Amino acid sequence: QTKDNQIIVVNNLYKTFNDNIHALNGVNISVNKGEVVTIIGPSGSGKSTLLRCMNLMEVPTSGNVFFKGEALHIKDKNINQLREKMGMVFQSFNLFPHLSVLENITLSPKLVLKMSDEKAKELGASLLNQVGLSDKIDSYPNQLSGGQKQRVAIARALAMNPDVMLFDEPTSALDPEMVGEVLQVMRNLANQGMTMVIVTHEMNFAKDVSDRVIFMAEGEIIEIGEPTQLFNKPKEVRTQTFL
Ligand code: ADP
Ligand code: MG
Repeated sequence: QTKDNQIIVVNNLYKTFNDNIHALNGVNISVNKGEVVTIIGPSGSGKSTLLRCMNLMEVPTSGNVFFKGEALHIKDKNINQLREKMGMVFQSFNLFPHLSVLENITLSPKLVLKMSDEKAKELGASLLNQVGLSDKIDSYPNQLSGGQKQRVAIARALAMNPDVMLFDEPTSALDPEMVGEVLQVMRNLANQGMTMVIVTHEMNFAKDVSDRVIFMAEGEIIEIGEPTQLFNKPKEVRTQTFL
């Protein structure tokens, strides 16, 4: 793997909250272009913190995050531009309730990229088509199901033409019957070559779609490998790892 191929490199990352909660204890990981990496592990193991440190939504206590070869610093004046190139999708959708579906998607392209109304609408329509929601273009978030909201949130992140998509338990807040439609959109993205880092409890998805799986526990990476390696371990080893 050449360096040019690395989209995100996390180098010896530590994150401590309130001086005594050690959420990350020296994490190292690199994510290559086109790679789908899933992060699994018990609640409180530092998965969200790691993801949030990747785009400096959380500022690491020590260690570095490199994005396309560049070390990220919270005080850099281009930090917000760099962040836009890491599309973030949360468990809780975080759509703007007072904006229509189209406006949610086109807000950043218009504000940040100074895209014209016309171009932004074209982009929004094409992304909504991609996530199967063309008929919801003028709807408001409260008129959508959870699965539809999450698909809009994915479209909104894609609108900034990100180099990587970061997903934090994108299906955990959904009714079971809505999980599949969101995972399908994510599968399609993976097939199109999108680089993705996904925190998930969906083991079948992790098994099918990831190039590599990371097991975290207590702020550390316990294991990292291809899904076939990790999921085919003897049961005792697996149970240990998951607990
Ligand atoms: P996971 O996503 O794997 O469930 P988190 O990254 O959310 O784990 O949390 C890791 C640890 O850090 C937990 O002990 C959690 O309580 C703590 N933590 C996370 N965010 C904060 C915060 N903003 N303030 C204090 N403690 C936090
Ligand atoms: Mg979490």
